[in-house]
Amino acid sequence: MTERHFQFWPKRLPTTLTIPETTIYDNLEVSARRYPQKTAIYYYGNTISYRKLCDEVNVLAGYLQAELGVGKGDRVVLYMQNSPQFIIAFYAILRANAVVVPINPMNTTDELSFYVGDCGAKAAVIGQELYERIAPVLHKGVLKHLIVATYSDYLPGTTEYELPEVVAAPRRGINNSTVVFWNEALDRGHQPGPVEVVADDLAVIPYTSGTTGKPKGCIHTHRTVQANVVGSCVWNQTTPEAVTLSTLPLFHVTGLQHGMNVPIYTGSTIVLLTRWNRDIAAKLIERTKCTHWTNIATMVVDFLANPHLSKYRIDSLRFIGGGGAPLPEAVGEKLYQLTGIRYVEGYGLSETIAQTHLNPPDRPKLQCAGVPFFDVDARVVDLETLRELGPGEEGEIVVRGPQVFKGYWNRPEENSKAFIEIDGKRFFRTGDIGKYDEEGYFFIVDRVKRMINAAGFKVWPTEVESILYKHPAVEQACVIGVPDDRRGETVKAFIVLKEQAVGTVTEQDIIDWSKGQMAVYKYPRIVEFVRSLPMSGSGKILWRVLQEKELKKQKQV
Ligand code: AMP
Repeated sequence: MTERHFQFWPKRLPTTLTIPETTIYDNLEVSARRYPQKTAIYYYGNTISYRKLCDEVNVLAGYLQAELGVGKGDRVVLYMQNSPQFIIAFYAILRANAVVVPINPMNTTDELSFYVGDCGAKAAVIGQELYERIAPVLHKGVLKHLIVATYSDYLPGTTEYELPEVVAAPRRGINNSTVVFWNEALDRGHQPGPVEVVADDLAVIPYTSGTTGKPKGCIHTHRTVQANVVGSCVWNQTTPEAVTLSTLPLFHVTGLQHGMNVPIYTGSTIVLLTRWNRDIAAKLIERTKCTHWTNIATMVVDFLANPHLSKYRIDSLRFIGGGGAPLPEAVGEKLYQLTGIRYVEGYGLSETIAQTHLNPPDRPKLQCAGVPFFDVDARVVDLETLRELGPGEEGEIVVRGPQVFKGYWNRPEENSKAFIEIDGKRFFRTGDIGKYDEEGYFFIVDRVKRMINAAGFKVWPTEVESILYKHPAVEQACVIGVPDDRRGETVKAFIVLKEQAVGTVTEQDIIDWSKGQMAVYKYPRIVEFVRSLPMSGSGKILWRVLQEKELKKQKQV
């Protein structure tokens, strides 16, 4: 196998970069001026040029300002699947100097209600198939306005993509609210008014549960987002000629940055998928000559398992990488054997709006978080004493850098726990346990935080437990992550039943009930009834004891 991969990258990257004082919207405007006719988005055979993209962003921004009164600092929820409308709405909200709150489209009404209430959003742009889920939230709190997008508006007559079922036509004007379809909003033809935006203005609030399990928003400014956008272009060699296959969900930071903001900054093309499909992905790589593809381990595994893969020409690819979860070494090797490309793994969090670490493309290591990104100071500290540790020693990873968020939205008590001071400087505590080698490459080995990483979707056991407690038969519940061949980890619940319920419900009943109560990636795939749970002296359930027992059990199998 020739090292095809290495020819594209400079041997040494700088360690520091100057980030421009511009806004994220400026990136689009500059690209539209430079490359008006170039394809910005390729969507299942339909193309949208940079000029058209920027024009529609402006018209939507004008609508938000003129008819919904959206302005500086207002939060606007984006609740939709990957689509051109996601990208247009994201930039339009920023053009109006408002703040984007991207929400996972898998969330149920209850989950959504929390996010909308917590961030105090006054408007939301949604996918039409999600209308019935958000409609009950519209009548409560400050959320008054919906713009409802139908994905077929940007699709040609025939498409490889199966449209989601549209559940309801929106009702209009309930309780002084406005509900308009996307096209109606654009047809109003507004142009945006002037806004004064500075790099430190709020831009995006992605939700995460951080280290403590309670969902909270991460405050990002144009500056923090730009730091990773600009850095990624240099690191991954995303030039204007790049063609990026965008398969990760855009509501999550890795997809948001690598699948959308980075290509738009360089004026290159995004090949957008609404749903992951390995055949369509391979076909699109061939058809549009994709050069870059950022993904998650489960997608690579599925892509390589495609028995028809050899039918497609995929040799235009020169960068394949991802983060959010480790890529198994064997998968990385298989990918290399097939494509001559070394997988470039990265590591980061919602709090750092994608990566703080990335492997150098010319010298990547497998199952490795990489080296600190431009201008990132990353250290490993002892969990108890917070003393700094040396190479090979395991402790909590703490980071400082231009992409680190400003703090959690309205959570002063969480903010005081999230940061520590070292050498007089503020470092963010990641909640991940890791170490670094003599060459400065970091490795993730465990977590301090209670989190399950199911195919890159983060599940917080406390949230799942609190829903399980609503089941009338459940006395006690403890949720852990167990290794899973396909999803990396999967969700397992240990349940103590109420005495009167013993024998009346089965484990499968609990699984089936859970499916209707929470987003699909969260519900327990495995339920085990137990007589009691291990408890500490102070009455806390000792989840780690169960976790370790389960790991031992799996190793013996
Ligand atoms: P999120 O905020 O959803 O992006 O989740 C961030 C968490 O994902 C981190 O704290 C890690 O636990 C996990 N993570 C991200 N990248 C990696 C990676 N390359 N290897 C292992 N875990 C990762």
